[in-house]
Amino acid sequence: MSRFLEKLKEAKASVNRLETTTLQLNITKKCNQACRHCHVESSPIRTEKMSREVLERILELLDQSSEVQTIDITGGAPELHSDFRWFVAELRKRNLQVIDRCNLTILFELGQEDTAEFLAAHQVQVVASLPCYSSKNVDYQRGKGVFGKSIDALKMLNKLGYGKPQSELELYLVYNPTGASLPPSQSKLEEDYRKKLYEDFGIEFTGLFTITNVPIKRFLFDLKRKNKLEEYMQLLIENFNLKAFEGVMCRSLVSIDHEGQIYDCDFNQMLELPVPGIKKNIWAIESFSALSGEKIFFDDHCFACTAGAGSSCTGATA
Ligand code: SF4
Ligand code: SF4
Repeated sequence: MSRFLEKLKEAKASVNRLETTTLQLNITKKCNQACRHCHVESSPIRTEKMSREVLERILELLDQSSEVQTIDITGGAPELHSDFRWFVAELRKRNLQVIDRCNLTILFELGQEDTAEFLAAHQVQVVASLPCYSSKNVDYQRGKGVFGKSIDALKMLNKLGYGKPQSELELYLVYNPTGASLPPSQSKLEEDYRKKLYEDFGIEFTGLFTITNVPIKRFLFDLKRKNKLEEYMQLLIENFNLKAFEGVMCRSLVSIDHEGQIYDCDFNQMLELPVPGIKKNIWAIESFSALSGEKIFFDDHCFACTAGAGSSCTGATA
């Protein structure tokens, strides 16, 4: 039994799925960046993408699944998918909330000049990575020149109404530590970001999500290379918080890969650990409600979601 499962047993925690309210779709692994800690291992040379057939099947299932309210589209850079705009328009026709996990620099790539306007016109919520308000840390983690372009993209989004007080166009920023540590307090950091980004660049945003680095893929290799893996695992384990576990995203979210396989979250997807049980892909279910009450695949990387204030794709969980 993994250390994480032992911990849940000891805490007598309830571990099954609740109703699925969010779908997270990884529609492409292609990205214009190749960040140091990317758990998807995305880069400009990746070619995996969701086919039209898979996208249409998801729409068909959504039409049978009234409990799903939010579609969180991720990648790679999802805007690079040739069906991105068609799919977003289909989702919005169904009155679903749509999130675009946007890396900001994509908005300046060739062919993407009107993507920001498209997102605003369809009232898509933008969730954008900005691991620091200083250029040194951002460029270290995400590549040279990324900070400057990200700032220009945030200014452009602000101009369209994103992140402004009282605006319906929501703009969330995502912070994750540059190294093997836990994020600071989300509310305190949000205050710092708000002050610094406004003073330095006049930038406004809706809120900040803090995310703990999950020890898988590129971040795991980095920890191993620096001989810091066990130290990081100890930090996560010692900070296990039952309250944070109660809010883990996998209880109400499912993650779907480009081939239509179903996972408990994007991290399990990258580890190729599909949902336990037989409902493993979008052709094996008739609606997403079929997944309620099912077991979740937990392993030791899950300690990253339950340490301290907890972590999920929408920030702290406790
Ligand atoms: S921008 Fe996001 S998807 Fe692209 S390489 Fe960086 S972390 Fe990965
Ligand atoms: S890493 Fe584990 S705890 Fe976190 S969302 Fe995925 S399955 Fe749940």
